Amino acid sequence: MTEYSIGLDLGGTNLRAAAVDRTGRMLDKVSGKTQYSEGREAIVHDMVEAIRAVRDRFGKENLAGIGIGVPGFISLEDGVIRNCNNIASLENFPIRDEIGRRLDTTVILENDANAAALGEKWIGAGRDVNDLIMLTLGTGIGGGIISNGKVLRGVNGMAGELGHITAVPNGNPCGCGNTGCVEKHGSATAIIAMARLLGLGENVTAKDIYDLAVAGNEKAIMIFTSMGESIGLVLATLVNVFNFPLYLIAGGVIGGWDLFAPAMLAETRRRSFTFRSTGTRVEQAQLGNEAGLYGAAYLPWSERKGI
Ligand SMILES: [Zn+2]
Repeated sequence: MTEYSIGLDLGGTNLRAAAVDRTGRMLDKVSGKTQYSEGREAIVHDMVEAIRAVRDRFGKENLAGIGIGVPGFISLEDGVIRNCNNIASLENFPIRDEIGRRLDTTVILENDANAAALGEKWIGAGRDVNDLIMLTLGTGIGGGIISNGKVLRGVNGMAGELGHITAVPNGNPCGCGNTGCVEKHGSATAIIAMARLLGLGENVTAKDIYDLAVAGNEKAIMIFTSMGESIGLVLATLVNVFNFPLYLIAGGVIGGWDLFAPAMLAETRRRSFTFRSTGTRVEQAQLGNEAGLYGAAYLPWSERKGI
């Protein structure tokens, strides 16, 4: 039996746990629905049981470690989710230590967007580089910074909250307290909000707007242009600050890449000398929904000294 690790990804509607070997081969996966409305105890119980099911199958002897990706602002020092719009019942609860206690081992807690970026670095679009930044465009915008092969965490573990970079001064209000966060102007939610403002329908999806744009609807085209410019502005800032070789765009919205990427890249080019004068790449992520699961599983190895 080869060495393996366990990754757990706590998503918006379900949780998944997987056993993955050192080469990135998934050995086993369990997934289940989590009833967030049933409260903290039910969620923690489901997380522990999913991990336990995988561990029982492969044994403790060859287990390299356990990594967990969760949404929200994570304080890594104490293993606590400080702020989480999706799962409020987990806020300010010592989730890392509680799960560790129930499993009688230590676990590594990480923000889900950071974990997804790490997964892409390990076996996805970023496997040929050591430094990358990933933006995941969904209902919000998650971000992860991988520097020298590891998640860049900052002093409290809250680095990489790229969705809350200001893209529009005095723009739309955000739950974080700021106005004009890029996630209020460049996410799938923002696409739908703009569609409503422009009278394209009340119950439309981002895909509906995409289809309208492809059919030549000028308002729908304008929405993707506006959204792409917001992302491009943030990308230019990131390129200027980090000078990394690779920036990845992930999330369901990348299905509309052909509509928003030209505006995004034009904005990045316009605002970044570094982008214009180097071979900086902006590309689509490759692992889709699996990125966070692989990244969580990679945490025990990426945190090992000497790797
Ligand atoms: Zn914000």
